[in-house]
Amino acid sequence: MIDVHCDETDDIMARFLELLNALVMIEGIGVRTVASHTCSFGSADDAYAFRLMGLLKASGINFISCPTENAYLQGRQDTYPKRRGLTRVKELIEAGINVCFAQDSINDPWYPLGNGNMMNILDNGIHLTQVASYEELETAFDLITYNGAKAMMVEDQYGLEAGKPANFIVLDESSVFEAIRKRVGVLASVRNGDFLFRRREPQYEVPLNI
Ligand SMILES: [Zn+2]
Repeated sequence: MIDVHCDETDDIMARFLELLNALVMIEGIGVRTVASHTCSFGSADDAYAFRLMGLLKASGINFISCPTENAYLQGRQDTYPKRRGLTRVKELIEAGINVCFAQDSINDPWYPLGNGNMMNILDNGIHLTQVASYEELETAFDLITYNGAKAMMVEDQYGLEAGKPANFIVLDESSVFEAIRKRVGVLASVRNGDFLFRRREPQYEVPLNI
């Protein structure tokens, strides 16, 4: 399996994604390959991007976008308009190409605020890529769950089906939409069937007497 952190620049002429895609297509290993970042693809000319999209679909290559890192690092030479720095996530989804959100940096020099909170990554990602219609939000969790499992080729061990490892977090909400909207906290984390931690639902004291 291959994960290439590729075209992490604002260079509108960058062509390393095209080269990577061609090489893995020749070898027939696109589905085992991830192109991470590909920020410049978000700045590429539309006609070029449209043509390349068909080749990306044909190879089966996967994409990982790192919303907080890309927004933090890219567009630094821009004045205004100032680019967001992310790849074409919405267009990749609409083309049927597997794309997921991730966190690249935890306590490292490239991005100082990473903490591995995937709900925060999702929140940033859907805003910066405008993947936030009601329909898109219904499946937004896929971007930090199933799509990542597909990119890592661990789908046989990932999901809610009986017999699979019990690795999951419990969010303090009953719907995906409200969990995202309310930025809810995590009530529990389970690893291989054992609780890593449990937390009581937050209690609020409201002393106002009006
Ligand atoms: Zn990276």
